[in-house]
This record gives sequence, C-alpha cells and structure tokens, in this order.
Amino acid sequence: MALPTETVYGLAADALNVRAIRQIFEIKKRPFYDPLIVHVTCLEKLLELVELDTKLLSTVSTLVEAFSPGPLTYVLPKKSWIPDLVTSGQTTVAVRIPQHPLFQEVMLRSRCFIAAPSANPFGYISPTSASHVLQSLDGQLRHILDGGDCPIGVESTIIDLSQSKLCLLRPGKITREEIQPLLPDQEIEDYVAIAYDGPTKLPAPGLPQQHYSPKTPLYLFSKKSELPLAMAENVARVFLSKRDPADGGPDDFFLSEDGNLEVVARQLFALLRTLDHSHRYEKIYCQCPLPEGLGMAIADRLRRAAYLKDIP
Ligand code: AMP
Ligand code: MG
Repeated sequence: MALPTETVYGLAADALNVRAIRQIFEIKKRPFYDPLIVHVTCLEKLLELVELDTKLLSTVSTLVEAFSPGPLTYVLPKKSWIPDLVTSGQTTVAVRIPQHPLFQEVMLRSRCFIAAPSANPFGYISPTSASHVLQSLDGQLRHILDGGDCPIGVESTIIDLSQSKLCLLRPGKITREEIQPLLPDQEIEDYVAIAYDGPTKLPAPGLPQQHYSPKTPLYLFSKKSELPLAMAENVARVFLSKRDPADGGPDDFFLSEDGNLEVVARQLFALLRTLDHSHRYEKIYCQCPLPEGLGMAIADRLRRAAYLKDIP
C-alpha cells in the first residue's frame, strides 16, 4: 500500500513481516544494503524498538518533544528482534513518528510498526502526490491512499544518535540550527555540510551520491549569469523565484513567486517529474539555493539528482 506522509508518499508494509518487506525492495528495485525507516505513532512505541541508556533516552525525549510527530528520523541502537532486512543487518534502526493524519490512522488501526520508504523506483524522483505514485508503480500496488499533495515535499531529516558524536545524515525541513540549541552539551556533526565541497566516504548505507534523478540530464546553476546566453532548444530552465521579469519564456519554470524555500521544497519534485515526463527537453537547468536552512535539504537533493553534471 502507498500512503501519504507530510514529506513524500511512502510504500508501506508491516516492518515485522519479512515477506512484505521483501516486496518493498522488489517493487522499488531497492538494493538490500539500503535500510528502511520504521514509523511509529508515539514515543512509547518508538521505545519498544530501541535499546537506550539513560543519556540517550534523555536526548531522544528532548528531540521527540520538540519535533515529533514530524519530519525527523532518529537512528538508534535497535532491539535484536527487528528483522535484518529492515536495517540491512546493522545494529541500528531508523525510526520516525510521522505527523500526517492518514498515516497516523493507518498505524493506529493496523497496530503495526510500518516501514515506508518513498513510493518510487529506487534512484528516481520521490513522489509528492498520489498520481506520482501511480505514474511509476501502477499495477504493482493494491492500494494508494490519496491524501493530496505532501505539504513538505522533501524527505525527512535523519539524525544518527547511536554514536558518541551525533551526526546529521540527511538534511530536511528540520535543520541542524533548530536541533543544536536543544542539545547544548552535544555537538552535532553535519555530514552533508562536511561533504558539500567534495565527495567523502559515505557515512551510512543508502546515501548514494546519485539519487532523486530525473531521466533527463539535470544541470545546476546558482545565478542566472552562469547560464549560456544563447539557449539551445529543448532546454528547460527552472528558477527558484519569478522575481526577474526578463524570465518567462515558454521553457522557463518557477518554483515559487518570491523564493520562499518552503514553497520551493513543496514544488521541486513535482516540477522535475513533469518536465521529465513531458519528453520535451533534452536537458534541465535548475537553480540551486544556498545550502542554508531548508536550502541545505533542497541543495542536497538537487546535487544528488544532478550528480557530476556541470553546465557545458
Ligand atoms: P527513505 O528512503 O527516505 O525511506 O530513507 C531511508 C534512509 O534512511 C536510508 O537510505 C538511509 O540513508 C537511512 N537509514 C535508514 N536506516 C538507517 C540506519 N540504521 N542507519 C543509518 N541510516 C539509516
Ligand atoms: Mg527514497
């Protein structure tokens, strides 16, 4: 079953049912080394899945109180009975308390821990509406719960709390700047910020450098001045905002009116998908925000989507 979350649509299965979990990997063509996030209704349920000492319990409680239910995923030492298939054989499990009312209701009614990676083929753009799920996975699912468009539009922030040094593994709507003040005694390392200026060793399985990619080659730019003056045909240009009145040709697209990054995040995957499926373009040039605040998550997804493609 596919169902909405506040971030992107998920492909859901009972996290303790190994057969169902295997189907998720098969439908997504997801490699088994890429572990799944397990979703729960509340802190009490989360605590059933993990082994925490007193200090870690205090850290988790602080973060859950501030950010959950919501788009923050916690990587924590797992209980041994959680299937290895879910965690790719690691000693940790990623857990999130999603906020979306439909997802909450499915968890309450099924009384299951629900594993739910994004409902799309591995490596492609994540779905932010029910129609996106149908577009990629039609015929492979029995049910899609339609909760409308996802209000956030980029995947959850992931924080690894299982090591002595806390580490942000994936940027999202909830930023390091928001989390750090709540944990003044523990420095949070930001993997993506560190990796921003060049490839480094991957800190966790399933954070590949190429991901979220349209089939149409995607190239990034920061400022309009970086774009070629004479635009070739069959190139779509995507801007963060509509501020510049000189833009607005038939192949120019805008992610927001005024550059509001929450709006940009909400629209980004849908627009890339529309351009990709239009088959009108040989290339997409997309403006990339500064890696600050929510811009960090958007820039991270765009950089992976455009991996190693500089504007020619
Ligand atoms: P998603 O594909 O959005 O459901 O996110 C799943 C991602 O969470 C994986 O690709 C990993 O990057 C991360 N993740 C899940 N479980 C773990 C874990 N035990 N340790 C580290 N990262 C994890
Ligand atoms: Mg995914």
